[in-house]
Amino acid sequence: MTRFARTRRVIFWEEPLEDAAASTPTLKSEVCPESGVIVLTPILPPGLDAGGRDQVLKGLLDGALAAIEGDLIRWYYTPMMLPFSRHLEAVCTAYDCMDELANFKFAPPELTLLERELMATADVVFTGGYSLWEAKRDRHRNIHPFPSSVDRAHFAKARSLRAEPADQAKLPWPRLGFYGVVDERMDLGLLAALADARPEWSLVIVGPVVKISPDDLPRRPNLHYLGGKAYDDLPKYLAGWDVALMPFAINESTRFISPTKTPEYLAGGRPVVSTPIVDVARHYGELEAVKIAGDAAAFIAACDQALALSRIKGPWLKAVDAALAANSWDETFTRMNLEITRAAALRSPAMLVEEPASPAIRPASRKKPFDYLIVGAGYAGSVLAERLTSQLGKRVLLIDRRPHIGGNAYDEKNAAGVLMHRYGPHLFHTNSEEVANYLSQFTKWRPYEHRVLACVKGGLHVPIPINRTTLNLLYGLDLQTDQEAEAYLESRAEPVERIRTSEDVVISKVGRELYETFFRGYTRKQWGMDPSELDKSVTARVPTRTNTDDRYFTDKFQNMPAEGYTRMFENMLDQAGVTLELGAEFEDVREEADYDRLIFTGPIDEYFDYRYGALPYRSLEFRHEILDQEWFQPVGTVNYPAESVPFTRISEYKHMTGQTCRKTTITYEFPRAEGEPYYPVPRPENQALYKRYEALALDTPNVQFVGRLATYRYYNMDQVVGQALATFRRIAEREGRAVIAAQAAARAVAAN
Ligand code: FAD
Ligand code: UDP
Repeated sequence: MTRFARTRRVIFWEEPLEDAAASTPTLKSEVCPESGVIVLTPILPPGLDAGGRDQVLKGLLDGALAAIEGDLIRWYYTPMMLPFSRHLEAVCTAYDCMDELANFKFAPPELTLLERELMATADVVFTGGYSLWEAKRDRHRNIHPFPSSVDRAHFAKARSLRAEPADQAKLPWPRLGFYGVVDERMDLGLLAALADARPEWSLVIVGPVVKISPDDLPRRPNLHYLGGKAYDDLPKYLAGWDVALMPFAINESTRFISPTKTPEYLAGGRPVVSTPIVDVARHYGELEAVKIAGDAAAFIAACDQALALSRIKGPWLKAVDAALAANSWDETFTRMNLEITRAAALRSPAMLVEEPASPAIRPASRKKPFDYLIVGAGYAGSVLAERLTSQLGKRVLLIDRRPHIGGNAYDEKNAAGVLMHRYGPHLFHTNSEEVANYLSQFTKWRPYEHRVLACVKGGLHVPIPINRTTLNLLYGLDLQTDQEAEAYLESRAEPVERIRTSEDVVISKVGRELYETFFRGYTRKQWGMDPSELDKSVTARVPTRTNTDDRYFTDKFQNMPAEGYTRMFENMLDQAGVTLELGAEFEDVREEADYDRLIFTGPIDEYFDYRYGALPYRSLEFRHEILDQEWFQPVGTVNYPAESVPFTRISEYKHMTGQTCRKTTITYEFPRAEGEPYYPVPRPENQALYKRYEALALDTPNVQFVGRLATYRYYNMDQVVGQALATFRRIAEREGRAVIAAQAAARAVAAN
């Protein structure tokens, strides 16, 4: 809330209070001095029925909002607030689903219906944990899990505080404590069994008793109910416990909880004993400091172990800190804020970058006799058009079905004046001097080394490719040298006899856990299949490092074209012999145009009318956004490997281009099965199918296939340039031989 209040005015609508003395409904307004959040509490006279109550609340809410200007974002933490607010016009509606509320004791029957309505109208839904997300993920198209974060600094005070609150100071040690609401989710029988089994321990319960009768609570001499305390005071109580408890009943009402107190207890440096709550086991179960026990006997034994652990401040605490390093409310805020901005943008297309419809450029005539028809004005087609015209004096008709040159590397300035890449981020890097020298004829360069962060473990940003910094940040390590990092990776790596797949490559280098954190989800999203089904060459593109080099590429030449790719292509194609036709399909041109030879840089299976079936290509949907802020993220690209996030990465162009501009532009990449063919899919059976098409190509006279799609290779830009230059050399040789042969023939004729 506090963080949202820094960027927006936040009004928090409290549950109404009934006041017998109130004759008319009123609204109590308080401003939180620290956060600036305005807290509005309706005060209602008693006796209103449900309908009347909603009518009154609606009136109060409308009155309060009328005094405030600006766009409204509705944020629901319960669907029960819909009846008096569903009429409000909002730029975005967020539903922050904290629990499976309908499973709660005394849940109102209309809750399920109202939640259905809220799910149908919300633009974005957040869930308070993964289990809840799993349960609800099919109910909304834009739903994101947000397990509890923790204010680490606040709870870490418990590690050093000495002064004890008066009501706890007198209790004998050892002490095992719980804080939180005491309601039907607490396993009261378990609590009683623990108190009985260990009468020498003090069991401290801090928190209000809600929905259950205080008479139902077990009473024992060593069981102390201290009542509710302020959030600010919790560390003081925690400081006085040896072990923190989560004795939750395992039933419908706890199936989806993701207790905030887990990371809080841990931040306070206390071992935790919990019953098997799914999200606790999932997120924290691997920590030595968290003991999970299913029945009373196991729970008591786990408490014994946790007490023993609490007496040694050993590696368990280091592991706790490493696990919590990824977990902060700032990260949660950043990601939620991003989702809200995105959801609002989806509703207001004005914020989205429109693709300008460029007019098709048509040549004076396709009928001119051309030496070559080149299909595709990307790297493959443009390099060959330039070489054939400038070096061999050929006449070339260059066509593309798109309304622009540059193929996938095309860039353009958008409405905010930001130079952006329409088909996702393109970073130029090469080790080939030939390629760098060749392109340098058409552009100056701007030095740029791309850096990528991966957003993992719910919000931690660490360098990818994995390097020493990644390991240190992720596991709270202090690896100082390459050798230490290498030894660490070796200890995690799993031997793989024959490295065949994209899974093998990674697991054999870094082991399963890092593989799952960085590669499995990303690859499944990007390629629509598991890395174990993909050729090793795919993930092998991303190396593993033991040093602290955090550049994405290590090539000798890493630069961006100073005025952009499109300008470089314009210069390349500024040749007298090149005739350019954009917005033109090969199918429409092939019969009409007059040419001797063909160079085809589109998909090879399309050329042969899919005779052997379609070659699989992977596609992407790009979502470009202009943001009214100078910067969005710290580096050019942030990868999101988690499968729960629907996109793979977000790129921000200004990092790459060095442009200064008040606004910024970012692109999300959403992998798709259907759409423009962007990626050939490296798998043995696809390669076998391609080979059949290649055989056809070799048998087709006067046609050459060049480029990523035509040779079905996952090539970078420089590799395509290299391939096109090699193709040109072969053509020049053939032409040269033809010239020599012609000259020899002419000489022979003359001699006769
Ligand atoms: P393309 O650029 O695809 O050009 C082929 C052209 O042919 C297209 O413009 C198409 O419209 C046209 N065409 C096809 N069929 C027909 C037809 N029947 N009639 C008329 N026209 C037709 N590489 C890097 O080096 N660094 C990067 O950072 C990088 N990032 C990338 C990010 C993304 C999201 C993608 C998809 C690719 C990236 N690449 C990157 C790869 C790079 O885009 C390609 O290597 C390069 O653009 C391939 O050039 P090309 O000429 O072979 O194909
Ligand atoms: N990859 C991954 N996690 C990452 C980055 C990459 O799993 O954080 C895998 C994924 O399969 C991806 C491949 O490595 O498709 C190659 O990554 P690269 O960045 O080279 O992809 P591109 O830029 O070509 O899309």
